[in-house]
Amino acid sequence: MSRMTEALPQEPAMAHAREVLRHTFGYSGFRSSQERIISHLIDGGDALVLMPTGGGKSLCYQIPAIVREGTGVVISPLIALMQDQVNSLLQYGVRAAYLNSSLSHEEAALVERQLLQGELDLLYIAPERLLTPRTLDLLRQSRIALFAIDEAHCVSQWGHDFRPEYIQLSQLHERFPETPRIALTATADAPTRREITQRLKLQQAAEFIASFDRPNIRYQITENDGNARERLLRFIREEHPGESGIVYCLSRKRVEEIAAWLRSREIEALPYHAGMDNQTRQGHQNRFRQEEGIVIVATIAFGMGIDKPDVRFVAHLNLPKSIEAYYQETGRAGRDGEAADAWMVYGLQDVITLRQMTTASEAGEDHKRMERHKLDAMLAFCEITTCRRQALLAYFDDHLEQPCGNCDVCLQPPQTWDATVAAQMALSCAHRTGQRFGVNYLVDVLLGKESERIKGFGHDRVSTYGIGCDLGAAEWRSVYRQLIAHGLLSVDLEGYGGLHLTQASRPVLRGETPLMLRKTRKMKPKRRAKQIDAAEVGDADHALWQALRALRLELAQAQGVPAYVVFHDATLMEMAERRPRDRQQLAMISGVGDHKLARYGDAFLRVLRDIPDEGQGSPMDGLDRPEN
Ligand code: ADP
Ligand code: ZN
Repeated sequence: MSRMTEALPQEPAMAHAREVLRHTFGYSGFRSSQERIISHLIDGGDALVLMPTGGGKSLCYQIPAIVREGTGVVISPLIALMQDQVNSLLQYGVRAAYLNSSLSHEEAALVERQLLQGELDLLYIAPERLLTPRTLDLLRQSRIALFAIDEAHCVSQWGHDFRPEYIQLSQLHERFPETPRIALTATADAPTRREITQRLKLQQAAEFIASFDRPNIRYQITENDGNARERLLRFIREEHPGESGIVYCLSRKRVEEIAAWLRSREIEALPYHAGMDNQTRQGHQNRFRQEEGIVIVATIAFGMGIDKPDVRFVAHLNLPKSIEAYYQETGRAGRDGEAADAWMVYGLQDVITLRQMTTASEAGEDHKRMERHKLDAMLAFCEITTCRRQALLAYFDDHLEQPCGNCDVCLQPPQTWDATVAAQMALSCAHRTGQRFGVNYLVDVLLGKESERIKGFGHDRVSTYGIGCDLGAAEWRSVYRQLIAHGLLSVDLEGYGGLHLTQASRPVLRGETPLMLRKTRKMKPKRRAKQIDAAEVGDADHALWQALRALRLELAQAQGVPAYVVFHDATLMEMAERRPRDRQQLAMISGVGDHKLARYGDAFLRVLRDIPDEGQGSPMDGLDRPEN
């Protein structure tokens, strides 16, 4: 009996939550842990949510905010992100607003009035504004449904996104002890998680930790064989024509170069780095957000605040400095859950450059040592011959049972060769030349190059001079890179690129352990299973897809919002596939909620009716649905 009375208040509330999911957001079911999180919050509990990018964190607080009485207050670190979120919510017919420095006095006063009168479901606030006496006063006079702390890792001092204002958010617990709080982040590692719990006083909160796998992202990594940018161009042209993407480079100069070069090849590419003037940079970011098919070429300065859901690829022309960085940067692809690519070419020069950057930095010795370890782990990750996704997840203590079938290793298993003898030559060449030269020099010695420099050092007389002519220069470079990745050689700490032998190299040098290495190879583009691309669909479907996109863009531009705010790609794709003929059928498409149906339904139905469907009838005919 008592169990029943406990469970009772929960039931209607969750029924309401499901109703909001269906009618407001237009989705048919909850994803993974969303339902448990939502139910926990509606019940008044605190929660810490760790979910990968694109996992669906927003609904975890948006739905409870709508269902619970009062306004859900969302603390979000970036103004641009707030605007996008609020725009999206307004499209769904949710009463949302934000308070930040971009508002005029009058605009802010209006939002404050709405809050006081209980006219808002969600209010987004910047952290520095939240804790001003004025806002605190305002909150005390209003009815607050919950506090959601987005990007909660910003509270971590060790993280790269640290925001001092976040520290103060611990006050929420003291000032509003009755109001449930939910902290959310896509940063997975245990130290950050502990810091969030401690600093935000979430010791009593339930933890919801999702798998960090991003199954829709295809990981592809290959070595740079000297024509990285040509390969990038081919990759974009063949796999992602007209789609949005991000290309990461290590230096500003390279960013400018690559962007200009892509533009000269008819790709809409725009540079983005910290050395540009603010206005131009902001302009490029805005175009990327608002338009379709823009490729941003950027340094890592481009990152937080990119919640564009339809980024179809992230390409790296250099090695990221750690596996964490790689995961985070590649994670900006495919937030909408549709197929996306994480594509990378890298070379040993990247390792040396990153080493130099570490060495030159002001950081303390411990910190530098940690950075070197992280870089080593990143390089080792590039050179593995097993499933990349399994390795990536294992790095975050996450576990994937089977090889993924969606990374370059799974798709084209690398071939290995017995490199024991070659490794001995390579190691002994480093040894005989004094363990202070870089790869290119060592390769020249192995190949017996006639060079003044080699003669000057007398290295044309060492026993390894010219003994390596069975392999080419590229193959030798690959051998060296793998020896470094396996920890048999290490790059000098000064960062000049000199290679020296490690303890682990002894058994190999003495012939006690055989060594298998991977063969170098080219990355062959492979078609994705589900691609939003003309190649996969018939002409009529393609025409329809283009027409739907054009309509979406027109509607978005008329309101000055990004196209995806009107409908996501996935929704348009489903429309093109299922060809709904009336409002009822349209309402069954994922992402079409009541408000959008009323607002845009007829316009989309008109397009759907106008493009011939080759006489097959609508795939939605005959589906079970209520008749009337
Ligand atoms: P995150 O904040 O975790 O990166 P979002 O909240 O932006 O992710 O959600 C990612 C995408 O998934 C969005 O396009 C969102 O509309 C969609 N989504 C979230 N939950 C669901 C669901 N239950 N069903 C269908 N789509 C969903
Ligand atoms: Zn795999």
